[in-house]
Amino acid sequence: MIKYEDLRLSNAEFFEDYKHAFSETLESGWFVLGSAVEKFEDSFAKYCGVKHCIGVASGLDALMLSLKALNLPAGSEVIVPSNTYIATILAVLQNGFKPVLVEPDINTYNIDPEAIRKSITGKTAAILVVHLYGKLCEMDSIRQIAQEFNLKVVEDCAQAHGAAMKGVKAGCWSDAAAFSFYPTKNLGCLGDGGAILTNDAELADMIRKLRNYGSSKKYYNEYIGYNSRLDEVQAAFLNVKLPYLDKINEHKRKLAKIYFQELKNLILPVVDADYYDVYHIFNIRSNNRDSLRQYLLENGVQTEIHYPVPPHRQKACQEISGFADSHFPASELIHQTTLSLPISYGHDEEDVRRVCRLVNSFCA
Ligand SMILES: *Cc1c(COP(=O)(O)O)cnc(C)c1O
Repeated sequence: MIKYEDLRLSNAEFFEDYKHAFSETLESGWFVLGSAVEKFEDSFAKYCGVKHCIGVASGLDALMLSLKALNLPAGSEVIVPSNTYIATILAVLQNGFKPVLVEPDINTYNIDPEAIRKSITGKTAAILVVHLYGKLCEMDSIRQIAQEFNLKVVEDCAQAHGAAMKGVKAGCWSDAAAFSFYPTKNLGCLGDGGAILTNDAELADMIRKLRNYGSSKKYYNEYIGYNSRLDEVQAAFLNVKLPYLDKINEHKRKLAKIYFQELKNLILPVVDADYYDVYHIFNIRSNNRDSLRQYLLENGVQTEIHYPVPPHRQKACQEISGFADSHFPASELIHQTTLSLPISYGHDEEDVRRVCRLVNSFCA
């Protein structure tokens, strides 16, 4: 059986170092916001090429706190892609803002800059882009639009650790960038974790306080804050893994290359020389998606669907004005036809060749 993702296998190479990192933290006797978090924040900021990194408890919190710290006016509209993972939209809603869904480009699956332009109103305060599947959005055009209309930009980088466009990495293109270290992400820890990157020292300072009860000095509180800190033990694991992130991404790119060479008669992801894609997800599209998925499963290959239900069709969103009866044809088409093939650090080339043989025999 080829699993979609086997986290034991993907992490096996790091077991000894993890154990060592865990004992070090244990022996240190310091378990919250200690030297491991500080070291990770420094190294991850350097890795991405951004000045400040603040470790938080999850990717959702990273998005929520980024939006919170930007101090957008009450009642603001925030533009988000209509085909994103629900967390992006929850972060907007949890802040009391209105998510305005904008359709993706059907070729890249990322938010369409021209559609952003058409959705801007007097209340639009920010654009929250998502580098879906590990491919950067068209950040040149999006930044230009943001500048033109005086909007903040936030990046959801939960699927894009190390991804780049024109040599500039995810996390460098916005006022604040949110990362998740959920175990399946390209840089994943052994539990929950997240981080925010920003070049703005004042914003970084505010987020640092917000994650820690609104305080920088024990028992003195400046803001109505949260408890959302990157766990010290998880930071110690991330310090083990970060030096291997490029290797992990290269491994996934090598597997993607085999898919591109072998797969026939399907819609494959687009490739562009300006983009360094990290294939958090390798998605194909097929009108026979469900029967293809069943065929693969019967032949010992697990796949996933990212995602089966678009955000505007989620029960949780039905109360939001305008959502229930809205239509997003591109997003709906993606949700009906997309299928994610195995592409993890725990898979090898032979696994992927076997998946290709099966997919091609189904399509023939
Ligand atoms: C995983 C993910 C998140 C949420 O991250 P958590 O750490 O699970 O909270 C947000 N946005 C996108 C696009 C994701 O893939």
